[in-house]
Amino acid sequence: MKKYYLLAPGPTPLPPEVLQALSRPILHHRTPEFEALFARVRAGLAELLETRSEVIVLAASGTGAMEAAVVNLCSPGDEVIVVRCGKFGERWAEIARAFGLRVQALDAPYGHTVPPERVAAALDAYPGARALLATQSETSTGILEDIEAYAALTRGRETLLVVDTVSSLGVVACPMDTWGVDVVVSGSQKGLMCPPGFAFVALSERAWRATERARCPRFYWDLETERRWQAKRQAQFTPAVSLLMGLDVAIGLLQAEGLPQVYRRHDRLARAARAGVEALGLTLFARATPSPAVTAIEAPPGVDGEAVVRAYGEAHNITIAGGQGEMKGKIFRLAHLGYVGEYDLIVGLAALERVLVGLGVPVEFGAAVGAAQRIFSKE
Ligand code: PMP
Repeated sequence: MKKYYLLAPGPTPLPPEVLQALSRPILHHRTPEFEALFARVRAGLAELLETRSEVIVLAASGTGAMEAAVVNLCSPGDEVIVVRCGKFGERWAEIARAFGLRVQALDAPYGHTVPPERVAAALDAYPGARALLATQSETSTGILEDIEAYAALTRGRETLLVVDTVSSLGVVACPMDTWGVDVVVSGSQKGLMCPPGFAFVALSERAWRATERARCPRFYWDLETERRWQAKRQAQFTPAVSLLMGLDVAIGLLQAEGLPQVYRRHDRLARAARAGVEALGLTLFARATPSPAVTAIEAPPGVDGEAVVRAYGEAHNITIAGGQGEMKGKIFRLAHLGYVGEYDLIVGLAALERVLVGLGVPVEFGAAVGAAQRIFSKE
């Protein structure tokens, strides 16, 4: 028997309490019991997003909420600025183009982010831009964008800041109201410790006003109609009821731990992961602004990153992630978000030592584990 571990950046492992909730008898969605559950979950999500805005819950993967944000804010021909540091920034641009928007892309090489000064210059150059589309934790490269700084730049302008927090909600703070973020989108399957299937979107007052003049076609994603339904504790269409029961429990677990502690746990895990990897002489892919959700690591010289991923799976029954697109084979990604504790990370690092030895890379056993243990035992 080889015990299975899931250390990929989503879907993430589910706590037993959540698994149990998912197996409860189904609720009908036009009942008072459902309404109470729906209202509680939406209030919990607003607490996580630190917003007084309504959080709209949609049955979709995270990309659904990205598309919902674009079609509800924009009209064909509108200009948008996209911060593009990896695959999910690229997705923002693809969605925008699919609806006939004009994309001004701010690119950073993979592993890097776009500094606020470049965003400021773009906002000056395209003052009519309808939205600035950004990604708080760019899962594909393991970097964190400086959303607080971007928000300080968009606050006094016409351009709305729209932030993808799919891999950062419940991992690192994104206080929507305090920072002045206009739209936050997210999903259920990462920091929230739930299965995939729900997407979330919250809009500030000025973002709601922008929806009135947005002309992109929409039906399922018509957020204004959905807002009216959800204010009455109902969803317009049949929601993923079972998932909602799991989400209710998962949000309760995060609240019981306390948000500051949740963020601190992820920060420690990430620092321990980075220390462990560097102790093996490997190079971190995202050195300057690493995300606390996932650590991207360069494959050692002469080693295919996909072989590392395969060895984790085949020899150790652990799922990690490889590189996406052009990064395939060049990096591998060890995730530490959601229902992950210190000893899960220790497992991931101990396996890395074995994987590297198996691939002929010289490694001192215990080096990565020791570096992580030193961080865990110090603080
Ligand atoms: N944005 C980010 C930052 C993500 O990590 C992901 C999922 N990996 C997505 C968007 C897309 O989410 P989904 O696959 O749920 O549509």
